[in-house]
Parts: sequence; C-alpha cells; structure tokens
Amino acid sequence: MNLILLGAPGAGKGTQAELLVHKLSIPAISTGNMLREAIANGTELGKKAKAYMDAGNLVPDELILGIVADRVAQPDCQNGFILDGVPRTLAQAEALEAAGVKIDHVVSIEVADSEIEGRMTGRRVCGKCGASYHITANPPKIDGICDSCGSQLVIRKDDAPETVRNRLAVYHATTEALKDFYGKLGRLVEVNGSQSIEKANEDILAAIGAKV
Ligand code: ADP
Ligand code: ADP
Ligand code: ZN
Repeated sequence: MNLILLGAPGAGKGTQAELLVHKLSIPAISTGNMLREAIANGTELGKKAKAYMDAGNLVPDELILGIVADRVAQPDCQNGFILDGVPRTLAQAEALEAAGVKIDHVVSIEVADSEIEGRMTGRRVCGKCGASYHITANPPKIDGICDSCGSQLVIRKDDAPETVRNRLAVYHATTEALKDFYGKLGRLVEVNGSQSIEKANEDILAAIGAKV
C-alpha cells in the first residue's frame, strides 16, 4: 500500500507516519527528515536546501524529486511506503505520476491554523532519527531523550513562530491545492487531526481500509 500524508506543518504527519510504520510494516519517507540529515552531514543537497528551510520556504522541486525517486526504488519500499511531507507542489505530484509511482490513498490530516502554533512551540524532535514529540501532548518517557533511539531531542529552528507563520502561508498558497488534484483522481480522504493522536490514527486506518 502506497500512501501520502498531506497536511499543514504541525498537522501530525510525522507522528502518524511513525504509528503507521509499525501497524502496516512499511517504511515512512520524510523529505523533511532526509533534508535535515543532509544538512547535518554537510552534503551538497544540505547546502543547497538549508536557506530555504530556515526561511520556511519550499526547497526547489528538482532537489526533492531526485531524493524521492531514489528512495522509493529501494527494496524495502517494494510492499509499500508512506510519503510524509511530499509531494508538496503540483509539479511534485505530477512528477510522481509521470514516474509511475502508484499512490493508493492520500490522507489529508486537517487541523485549524489556530491550533498549529501551540503544537510547534511544544514540538521536540530527535536529532538522530527524526521522531517527533510534544512537551505536553506526546512527551517522551525520559525528558529530552528519544524513546526510539535514545538520542537528544532538539527544537527545530524553523519552529519559531514567525517561520511557522510563513510555512502555513506556503501550505495554503501551494500545497493545499494537492487536495483538489488527488480528490479529482478519487484518492483523497480527509481525517480530523484535532483529536487525540490515537483517535486520529484509528480514523486514518479506517479511511484507508487497513485491517490491523
Ligand atoms: P513539517 O512536517 O513541519 O511540515 P517538514 O519536516 O516536512 O515540516 O519540512 C521542513 C522543511 O523542509 C519545509 O519547510 C521545506 O523547506 C522542506 N521540505 C520538506 N519536504 C519538502 C518538499 N516535498 N518540497 C519542498 N520542500 C520540502
Ligand atoms: P508534522 O509532521 O505534520 O509537521 P508532527 O507529527 O511533527 O507534525 O506534529 C507536530 C507537533 O504536534 C508535535 O509536537 C506532535 O507531538 C504534536 N501532535 C501531533 N499530533 C497531535 C495531536 N493529535 N494532538 C496534539 N498534538 C499532536
Ligand atoms: Zn530518535
């Protein structure tokens, strides 16, 4: 099963992707995590992407398409994958279609803008594996430490309120149009992302017809 998780920054894509990885036994592909890793490793991709990300703008499509095409071609993606945070532009969605990447369901996680800032100020992410936590809504077992890999949790630079406002504007101006794109293809399902993490996950599984 090939899935796309769509939604505003902070809607819960990463959190839900992690839960789905365990329930569906398919990998999650987060372009945000891949780009942050590239920056941490000082690669060419990282150098090219950093200024866009720090400003809360989208990284150019051609950089994204290369890393996604390589990743979905890996053997662990044979039985399916979860795209978290990609595609984000019409050009990215069209390129996936053109490349023959078959998408079964596009889950749009719906959360009002008014709820996003609180999520971002409380978000802590693992500097190593990218896992996402929240200081009150989803705290790690040990303060400041990742449950899954034991590394330090950090605050993302682009989670500062003024950058979040720009990311939300970019979402509405550019990425939200993908709901229409996939809706017309009959693949879009919308899920209420303002409920508990567990309830939202149940709704996603039901919406994609998964039996777990
Ligand atoms: P969030 O999950 O909070 O929306 P991500 O980790 O998905 O954030 O993305 C962080 C940043 O990485 C984005 O603001 C953007 O600069 C860049 N990025 C990630 N994925 C893409 C993509 N598919 N296309 C363009 N830029 C991307
Ligand atoms: P995205 O990948 O869409 O940017 P995340 O999964 O990183 O979003 O979630 C953003 C923040 O909101 C994190 O701190 C996360 O723990 C928290 N969060 C995710 N889902 C919920 C929820 N249903 N209710 C409250 N907080 C949530
Ligand atoms: Zn970790």
